[in-house]
Amino acid sequence: MPELPEVENISRALKKALVNRTILKTEVFSPALRTSLEPLRHADVTGAQFLDVRRRGRYAVAEITGNRAFLMHFGMSGVVRVEPGNIPRRKHEHIFIHLDNGNILRFECTRRFSIFELHELPEGKKFPTVLDRLGVEPLEKEFTPEFLHSKALKVKSCVKNFIMDNFVVVGIGNIYATETLFHSGTDPRRQASTLTLEECKKIVHHSKIILKKAIESGGSTISDFLNVDGSEGKFSVNLQVYGRTGKKCFKCGTVIESVKLGGRTSAFCPCCQR
Ligand SMILES: [Zn+2]
Repeated sequence: MPELPEVENISRALKKALVNRTILKTEVFSPALRTSLEPLRHADVTGAQFLDVRRRGRYAVAEITGNRAFLMHFGMSGVVRVEPGNIPRRKHEHIFIHLDNGNILRFECTRRFSIFELHELPEGKKFPTVLDRLGVEPLEKEFTPEFLHSKALKVKSCVKNFIMDNFVVVGIGNIYATETLFHSGTDPRRQASTLTLEECKKIVHHSKIILKKAIESGGSTISDFLNVDGSEGKFSVNLQVYGRTGKKCFKCGTVIESVKLGGRTSAFCPCCQR
């Protein structure tokens, strides 16, 4: 599943490829992805121009004229490309948006868990209303130790699930949560309400560093055309515990253990993480 760093890089690359381009025609080849494509099929976007592309959580939002935006979520296997018009349609490509420079914005998804919708943008707002419920952005100023601590106070679930909760903070996926908790020295199994402000400082600090590094490492791999294959961990974060169960901790030599939390495997060092 594309994580925040991947979606950030897709959004940046889409911005370069789309801004100032005018839509000539839209083609919809399937009735639905995770949601119906019928509204998109009947929408009149011909002549509209792309104004900006932004990311919110794991969503990419492409604003067009007329206070509207395409909302994209890549699900498990969504791929977006901007390519010359002469390339034949691939089997699982569901949407073509023809641009005035001869390129086509193409959306592919084999498992159809992704989303491609057209939304109204409320006056003066950067994102469609459906995204209002999402938590704060981890790389923005509002993600502070004080914020995280205040949210944690009454939370009975474990720390790992808490920092992966998209209603608290968006886009800290399994790899990044696992690594953040190692660097913060926090046991992923602990109840979130036991976190001190000092521990929240470490979690906020390390999550920002790890996500920024992942964004930087992926930025160079996306150039003229865009491609996300939906695989997790493609971005080369220097992994300390994720995927290292049974191996020795780089810091202390203790064998890395793992536990299932919220259905996801969580690796941790029982010595370094308390
Ligand atoms: Zn250790």
